[in-house]
Amino acid sequence: MTPDQIIEQIGSIRTAQPQNLMARHFNAAFFRSLDDQKRQRLMEIIASGMENPDSQMGAYAMHSEDYDLFAPMLDPMIRDFHAIPATTPIAQQHDWNTTAQDCDLGEIDPRLKEVSMRVRVARNLASFPLPGAMSKDQRIEFENIASGAFMKLINDPAFGGQYLSITPGSPHEIDAAEYDRRVSAHQMFKDMSGDPYLNVAGISADWPFGRGMYVSEAQDFLVWVGEEDHLRVMTMLRGGNLNTLFAHLHTGLEHLQTLLPAFATSTAYGNLTSCPTNLGAGMRASLHLQLPNLTENGTDLTRVKQEAKSLGLAVRGAGGEHSGAGEGGLVDISPSARLGVTEMEIMQRLYDGAAALWKLETA
Ligand code: ADP
Ligand code: MG
Repeated sequence: MTPDQIIEQIGSIRTAQPQNLMARHFNAAFFRSLDDQKRQRLMEIIASGMENPDSQMGAYAMHSEDYDLFAPMLDPMIRDFHAIPATTPIAQQHDWNTTAQDCDLGEIDPRLKEVSMRVRVARNLASFPLPGAMSKDQRIEFENIASGAFMKLINDPAFGGQYLSITPGSPHEIDAAEYDRRVSAHQMFKDMSGDPYLNVAGISADWPFGRGMYVSEAQDFLVWVGEEDHLRVMTMLRGGNLNTLFAHLHTGLEHLQTLLPAFATSTAYGNLTSCPTNLGAGMRASLHLQLPNLTENGTDLTRVKQEAKSLGLAVRGAGGEHSGAGEGGLVDISPSARLGVTEMEIMQRLYDGAAALWKLETA
């Protein structure tokens, strides 16, 4: 395709799919101003949004420096998604002071003392391309670096555990049944090789090479290797105390970080991630809540999604993104914002949003 044909095609996506942020903010003048090599790179970044016009973001970064190199195109998309006006400077702040505010869900209602809580952060190493641009050898090399770090983390009494790989021939390899069991337990990520968005972006390439997960003895600290970002570091606990959940993640993350090469970050965007929706804190903090009234027993997510949206929350199904509600209207709620909010603001938003939704549910 010539640059003119590409510009034309994106124009028709913009008309047909107004939610596609890549098409909405496609900058034809900037695109024309690039040399052939840079234009090719930008094409790879936006391929997902061109081949999947129903995308919401429609772009994945391939290298952490893409956010600088292609800022005239990406920055307006990022601001649009994260609701940051063009005139407001972006400077991601961090705050992990988990004791400053009390977020105990049991204080809202004793029935919320035993919910499933999860918080994850996305991290990428500065020394490798982002997953969409990694070669098979780089995926395996990265997994070896990560598993080397885990072999040291094993000695930490609070975070010791095991590394499970799905790379064929890995010394840590698990069989298909064990993999399925970990996916059903919400611990391991799903097979990415059938995902049309990740396929076009190259993120799911070479599946299952370079993929695996670390899990602590207590099964409450997990690290995904080789999903949409190099690492997804998370804690999962059943209970109601968000402070405990976040503090555990922070301690584990700090330890793991000392065992790894530097993460990719920028002053403006904080943690650099494949998908611009995850920039900033890189954090998604979620609760699995049973909301039978708001979901009409789990058959219809329309109302809960609408109520949640006005509270700054996103709703996913019980099996994660693109899944349906589970038994008794079980859904996954999480604050939508990740860039321009601190980790502690996300914790507070999850708490406040859960309290407001619960009030509607039990009204
Ligand atoms: P993310 O993209 O944030 O990593 P996904 O939507 O892909 O999350 O979900 C990953 C897995 O985590 C899925 O199995 C999902 O059901 C599970 N999960 C998410 N939140 C919770 C929670 N609060 N409790 C238990 N499992 C959860
Ligand atoms: Mg995901």
